[in-house]
Amino acid sequence: MALVSPFCGSPPRHAAERGPTPGRKNVMRLVLIGPPGAGKGTQSSRLAAHLGVPHLSTGDMLREAMAAHTPLGDQARAYIERGQLVPDELVLNMVCQRITQPDCHAGMLLDGFPRTVRQAEALDAYLHGRGTPLDVALELAVPDDEVVRRLDKRGRDDDRPQVVAQRLHAYWTATRPLLDYYRQRGLLRSVDGLGTMDEVFARLLRALGRSSPHCS
Ligand code: AMP
Repeated sequence: MALVSPFCGSPPRHAAERGPTPGRKNVMRLVLIGPPGAGKGTQSSRLAAHLGVPHLSTGDMLREAMAAHTPLGDQARAYIERGQLVPDELVLNMVCQRITQPDCHAGMLLDGFPRTVRQAEALDAYLHGRGTPLDVALELAVPDDEVVRRLDKRGRDDDRPQVVAQRLHAYWTATRPLLDYYRQRGLLRSVDGLGTMDEVFARLLRALGRSSPHCS
């Protein structure tokens, strides 16, 4: 299967580019998975700051590309406006350009990526090729009715009811299978996404085996 080729090609060759910085502790490469409106964006940016790794949100990257009217943004727009997933090739290409930047070599938090098994396989192939596999896949679990309620309040363009229904459908059909994918690899940790922002954040830290001195 040509899973690596659309995504990043060959991994870096220099030993200095492989793996965590020597002596640096707690390096983390993690992905956060959850339905739209689960709070992934808010929790990810807080978690990334706490862990000292870059926060990479594919949703934000795509919205920026749309606002800047780049070719990628123009291609992605129709999918996003309909609540559909942007095709894997486009997303893999975009993520590839970002995660090969030096600031990602010592860790990263991926938010909203991967969203399909194919994306997860491509990410795994790239990270394994560098000798720096994923540490953990965090699931932020929120029931559908709560998701609909939250998105209704948020009011973003792609939060209109019909689009929300389509986004949930995409989550259930394309993204939820990732939970099994990561469970089978022993990487999945599920966290209850209901509660206050601080409560959920404390749960995420616990799931990572970290204490939460200032967050509860
Ligand atoms: P988000 O802000 O993560 O909910 O993403 C907003 C929209 O961007 C999604 O509904 C998708 O249309 C698109 N999108 C974001 N990340 C991905 C991805 N990894 N694969 C495909 N489409 C994506």
